[in-house]
Amino acid sequence: MQYSLILPIFNEQENIETLYSRIDKVMKQIDRSYEIIFINDGSTDKSQVILTALAKKNKAVKVINFSRNFGHQIAVTAGLNHSSGEVVAILDADLQDPPEVLPSFFKKLSEGYDVVYAIRRHRKESIPKRIMYYLFYRLLRLVANISIPLDSGDFCVMSRRVVLLLKNLPERNRFIRGLRSWVGFRQTGLTYERQSRMAGKSKYTLAKMFKLAFDGIFSFSYIPLQLLTWGGFIFLALAFFGIILTLYAKLFTDIFIPRGFPTTIIVILFIGGMNMFSLGIIGEYIGRIYDEIKQRQLYIVESKLNF
Ligand code: UDP
Ligand code: MG
Repeated sequence: MQYSLILPIFNEQENIETLYSRIDKVMKQIDRSYEIIFINDGSTDKSQVILTALAKKNKAVKVINFSRNFGHQIAVTAGLNHSSGEVVAILDADLQDPPEVLPSFFKKLSEGYDVVYAIRRHRKESIPKRIMYYLFYRLLRLVANISIPLDSGDFCVMSRRVVLLLKNLPERNRFIRGLRSWVGFRQTGLTYERQSRMAGKSKYTLAKMFKLAFDGIFSFSYIPLQLLTWGGFIFLALAFFGIILTLYAKLFTDIFIPRGFPTTIIVILFIGGMNMFSLGIIGEYIGRIYDEIKQRQLYIVESKLNF
């Protein structure tokens, strides 16, 4: 098998047929063996019926039906796990990622890359969604402990070895575009014009968007935990500053200080600081436990010499 195309489907009945015919056209031009893997992520519309009909017509169409909606990232994971192509592509099923650009992605990959990810030139979504995504990617870049490219989603083509590595990552809260960067090797981006959704409404509810954003941040950053430690430090420092200030005012000035007032403030700052600081310490342990549990490989060897 040369090419695998992975398409997560959640209630996309209006899009599947056009999607299929456009992909079919593109893949016929390339003229290599390919499979199209549809992951029906618990659709409640006619998606399953349409997919079943397509699979009957064309043996290259493979369908995985989930028992319920498990979410986009899980659907893509299932697709990756079932793919057997030397080159694997991930696309959205709403034709926002036009299949017609795939040949240029395949070509770029064949120049010796392991991942060619798509960078959106413009987004054709609502303003609030655009702002949220814009801010999210920048926040992620700021806090993540690996470099994750800005403004690129899951749309990409990957080599088999990257797919095998992704398959072997056991972590459960999967932020695929992050894991893909984590794997390393030679990666590059190609810009493309992101289209607007062909039909239907976005299947990413606000809750799903936040889940994705949190998975991105919490799977690739310790900064939220470390903020606690730093916050604790700041409050403790304020408490000591308060002590010095009060002593100074008492000994060297005749500013009127109400009895007990500085003590109260200092005690509050001190206890608050200690609380935050100790939560930060617990956080550091939790961070390490979390790391152990994710069971990511410690390193990925690209090549060895003289072994
Ligand atoms: N999707 C999915 N499961 C979900 C939500 C979305 O498989 O729970 C699929 C959806 O059918 C589409 C892709 O994921 O193929 C991207 O979703 P959508 O286009 O709704 O997201 P948006 O482009 O609005 O961010
Ligand atoms: Mg979409």
